[in-house]
Amino acid sequence: MERLFIGGEYVESVGGGTIAVEDPATEEVIAVVPDASAEDVDRAVHAARQAQPAWRRMDALERAELLHRCADRLNEAADDLAVLLTREGGKTLKENRDEVAWSVTAIRHLAEVARTSRGRVVGATKPDQLNVVLNEPYGVVVHILPFNYPLVLLAWQVPAALAAGNTCIVKPAEQTPLATLKLGEIFSCLPPGVFNVVTATGPGSARLVEHPDTDMIAFTGSVQTGSRVMAAAAPRIKKLLLELGGSDPFLVLGDAKLDVAARGAVFAAFLNAGQVCTSAERFFVEERVYDAFMAEMLKLRDAVRVGDPFDDVDMGALISGDAREQVIRTLDELTERGARVLAGGEVPAHLPKGYFFEPTVVELTEPRRQTPNREVFGPLAMVTPVRDLDEAIELANASDLGLGASVYTSSLEAAMRAATELQAGMVWINDPLKDNDAAPFGGWKMSGLGRELGTEGIAAFTQTKHVHIDFAQAPSPEWWFPYERPPIPVSRGTLPIPGA
Ligand code: NAD
Repeated sequence: MERLFIGGEYVESVGGGTIAVEDPATEEVIAVVPDASAEDVDRAVHAARQAQPAWRRMDALERAELLHRCADRLNEAADDLAVLLTREGGKTLKENRDEVAWSVTAIRHLAEVARTSRGRVVGATKPDQLNVVLNEPYGVVVHILPFNYPLVLLAWQVPAALAAGNTCIVKPAEQTPLATLKLGEIFSCLPPGVFNVVTATGPGSARLVEHPDTDMIAFTGSVQTGSRVMAAAAPRIKKLLLELGGSDPFLVLGDAKLDVAARGAVFAAFLNAGQVCTSAERFFVEERVYDAFMAEMLKLRDAVRVGDPFDDVDMGALISGDAREQVIRTLDELTERGARVLAGGEVPAHLPKGYFFEPTVVELTEPRRQTPNREVFGPLAMVTPVRDLDEAIELANASDLGLGASVYTSSLEAAMRAATELQAGMVWINDPLKDNDAAPFGGWKMSGLGRELGTEGIAAFTQTKHVHIDFAQAPSPEWWFPYERPPIPVSRGTLPIPGA
């Protein structure tokens, strides 16, 4: 049985249950972790709370150096972490190796950006006054994370929160807690209590949200759970960062380089078996190139290698049997509404064990009626021919979700029109799914609230405080008592009601 990481050490759970961690590619149970009890949660919150004042007061340069040390140690442990991520998550080993590398880069970037994000000076109106805006930490931040990118999503938030002077409790997804628990050892250069890891299912996680002594909830996960977290945070007006699901559109215009667009499309649809929040799901392709584009896309889809994530493959397993069932149910729903499966749609015959599914392409000729207005978290691409850019934008925006969007075109004018009119937090033109630590990441509409990365991603973990200073200690006779103004020619008897 694994242990929780609280107050700088691994500790046994007190009275908690257990969670079996399964390898989705083999269906074997590979570890058992605690399902934290209320007492465990209290202990973690207490540790984080106790550690916060000293952490906040620490020299900012020293804090940044400690974060760089965390990044160094993460880099040294990259191979072990990539193996753990592959076993618990079913994503390919090569992607997981990249995930660790991206996490290292994000930590370094955020550690440095935070050093220049302490606040700003705003124009005071009087010469002997100074108005400054301080960015202050919230206190204890709870990070609740999903299964699909356990480390990089943590690295997009936790260093920002820590660099700003908060202390953290991380709650990994129940399916993928192992690499995150290992971080306890890797980040042991941090003072005890600054970084804690608590494993739990929904109820333990909800306790962290509701706990009176946690100040902010940074949640990454589905819209459904995010909405529950928002409601649970409401009674105490807890600060929130919500990074939720998407149903991203992918537009292919007639003047695009079709071979490049098709490669981009297959990658954006099937990376991590379609379990990326910004996976492209809804493809809108201009009619005049539809047949040519589809021929290329289907050829490239046939070349996607599905199999053991430790082998040289492109797609591993879905996270669970339930996740695969949901994809199958969506596919049934689509075909009942008249959609046509162009490729895939089955469990691969050579992979009877593990939660594998074929990369699947479905044609929707009546997208408004046929498309589910929700995220499909699996390898399912829904393609639709459209008349022109106008129709593509209209259909792309006909969703309650607005995380990312991709556009392929050779026209600068069309690209900029799409970038301007698409309702999404990120728009990728001719190069899908590229994130940049220096640019904000997050969703419009029901895809989220707040931003990670960029300067916005540091600001997300701070609250402003306007400090007004009169360094001359001069009186303000124009404002203080006696509060003198020229007489106003009205009396108590005058009631200026319009129309009276
Ligand atoms: P999920 O919503 O099922 O679970 C996410 C986390 O919430 C888990 O740690 C889970 O234990 C916890 N949880 C469950 N019930 C809870 C409750 N009542 N209170 C508090 N926490 C609770 O999501 P998932 O299946 O792990 O991940 C996939 C989802 O995450 C997809 O919708 C995907 O789009 C989204 N996602 C979004 C982003 C983004 O940055 N926008 C990134 C990655 C994944």
